[in-house]
Amino acid sequence: MEASLILLPGDGIGPEVVAEAERVLEAVARRFGHKFHTRRMPIGGNAIDSHGDPLPAETLSACRTSAAMLLGAVGGPKWDDPGAKTRPEVGLLRLRKELELFANLRPIKPSPHLLDASPLKSSIISGTDILFVRELTGGLYFGASGRKPHASGEEAFSTMIYNTGEIERVVRVAALAARKRRGRLTMVDKANVLEPSRLWRSVSAKLMSAEFPDVKYDVVLVDSMAMHLISRPRDFDVVVTENMFGDILTDEGSMLTGSMGLLPSASLGSSGPGLYEPIHGSAPDIAGKGIANPLATILALAMLLRHSLNLEQEAACIETAVDRVLAAGHRTRDIAGGAPSIGTVEMGRHVIEAL
Ligand code: NAD
Repeated sequence: MEASLILLPGDGIGPEVVAEAERVLEAVARRFGHKFHTRRMPIGGNAIDSHGDPLPAETLSACRTSAAMLLGAVGGPKWDDPGAKTRPEVGLLRLRKELELFANLRPIKPSPHLLDASPLKSSIISGTDILFVRELTGGLYFGASGRKPHASGEEAFSTMIYNTGEIERVVRVAALAARKRRGRLTMVDKANVLEPSRLWRSVSAKLMSAEFPDVKYDVVLVDSMAMHLISRPRDFDVVVTENMFGDILTDEGSMLTGSMGLLPSASLGSSGPGLYEPIHGSAPDIAGKGIANPLATILALAMLLRHSLNLEQEAACIETAVDRVLAAGHRTRDIAGGAPSIGTVEMGRHVIEAL
């Protein structure tokens, strides 16, 4: 296979973790006989510095014509001035919106070798394997919002809006994923209170019975889901939900694994390139020290190979390599629990050796 990939290292630890993922990509290319053409493009704070824009036009056009994108992270204290004209995060939000990346996939699968890293009992989390699919470009974060004067001071509002098409397309992504996994899909909503949730419920039920009669489908209220996620996480396979519920539940879910340095995510549209990234931020507190955990970005690369290039065997190979490295006891500082640890580059090297 020959494919063009865009690397978006970004800010803080972004360039450090993306460099390790790129080395893993080169190792995969050698082992499986592929040719990957990679190009680094600016995004976020560094792009504000170099172009005055967190998403320069050339970055966007390079992304549009690529097979997929791998991002490190954006942001940092240097660009935090509330009076600034723009912010690093704006680049990422615009990229998702421009490419219509409406489905955010976040697998949550605690490593059996790191069960003690989670604040939850290992008897509860062991065997958990959930794929969250969060709607990413609609709902409360994109509906009309504003403020107006009120007798007591001010009144503020944000609006949650969804239409049939927005719901169908993300539920379809989730159902297709469920079909390739254990064949179960849970839709999370707040249909006892919210009108958009009632639309989610009717549209999803209709779609599931028409297109996915083979997938076992159920619905759970978001407040119950917050409890189930930490009391019986093993019971879920694929979970689909709207933007804000997904935002909150996926962060709760990340604690099942104990470390943000281990979790990848993918943002996909109906067609066109997907965006793959670790769920953590730019970690300015450890940037430049060579101690960041590169595994989330390496696992994001595995998702890229699976979902955008259809290279299942290569993706599984990376995931197995990461598992072996953890089984062998190699730990970066964030998952070492105070025991001796290794650096970013050394961790990358172990993964390549295991590969
Ligand atoms: P963060 O995820 O960057 O860091 C939180 C904590 O986790 C820090 O102590 C950090 O050292 C640690 N950590 C994160 N990733 C790690 C890794 N790979 N290895 C080891 N330790 C790791 O979140 P934050 O501190 O809230 O945000 C820092 C900056 O990142 C902010 O500017 C924020 O806006 C930005 N951010 C960007 C993204 C993104 O690019 N998608 C996501 C979240 C936050």
